[in-house]
Amino acid sequence: MHLPPEPHGQLKSARFPQPVEDTLERIRRAAELAGDDWLQVLGLTEKQYLRLLIERVPLAARTVESVAARFGLSFESVMRGDVDYAALSAREKGDHDPLPARFSVGAFSRRRTSIHLLDYVELNHGWRTRSRILRHFQMSEALFKDPDQSININFVTELCEYLSKSGCSTDVMKSMGEHSFVANRKTPLGRLLRSYGTSRMLHEHVFTELISPYFDKNCIYQLVEISDHHCVVTARPSTEVQDELMQKVIGSTHVCSAKVGSFQSLSGYLGLPFSKVTETDCVHSGAGVCRFHFDFQGRAGLSRPGPHLASA
Ligand SMILES: [Zn+2]
Repeated sequence: MHLPPEPHGQLKSARFPQPVEDTLERIRRAAELAGDDWLQVLGLTEKQYLRLLIERVPLAARTVESVAARFGLSFESVMRGDVDYAALSAREKGDHDPLPARFSVGAFSRRRTSIHLLDYVELNHGWRTRSRILRHFQMSEALFKDPDQSININFVTELCEYLSKSGCSTDVMKSMGEHSFVANRKTPLGRLLRSYGTSRMLHEHVFTELISPYFDKNCIYQLVEISDHHCVVTARPSTEVQDELMQKVIGSTHVCSAKVGSFQSLSGYLGLPFSKVTETDCVHSGAGVCRFHFDFQGRAGLSRPGPHLASA
């Protein structure tokens, strides 16, 4: 992937340790403050601020305290970089930040997929890359605070397209999809998915009840086959979504790859290795439906372990 490198070095797969100056800059961007407004928050004159930037004089604790107090954060959380930027941005905007019109028509997706894709980008490429992507789409952090709010599928489609043009391979798209497990496992949805005793029960419930309310109403999903170690799911674009968006093509091959990753991660909620999911037909290659074949371990301890399982 060839996204521009972060100023502090190479891409890493672990969270970046952030110097406090970096955290303050991110807070400034999330709050969309500039000029005198920002100086006021810092409690600095323009001259002092310029010295800070140009001569790199160390930040005074009272400057950090001033920022923390203004945004209702603790001094320690700012020092640690432990800040919920989406919540901060939403508070600054009074929770009235509108979704750009092109993503609000036919909004049949929950924002949780968008959130976990953006989180993946941040985790692997740093918050500045995430910030640059949000600016590219003219969207703020505040829009990604609540996973249950709606957005149309074109945002995820365009985001995947953007990342693909930046060099993301199909495997990276799948890894991005798998990140949904990291993003969701500690949420009420994650707890619900953990409550099923076997992979069969989990996949049955996901593809007959949960996928529409929790993930995606852009496609009509059908569980066409299931056993203790295998299932087949088809997805065809919803005509309602096609009509609302006034477009026949819903999603893209990249979105389907991310979907494969997300599907693979389902068995992770049961503490099992991720499944092996293969998309054998795709509407973006001319098929009538996308067809996904799942191979999974039935229950912990009953089958041989491994990151990917052979067909049952
Ligand atoms: Zn497909």
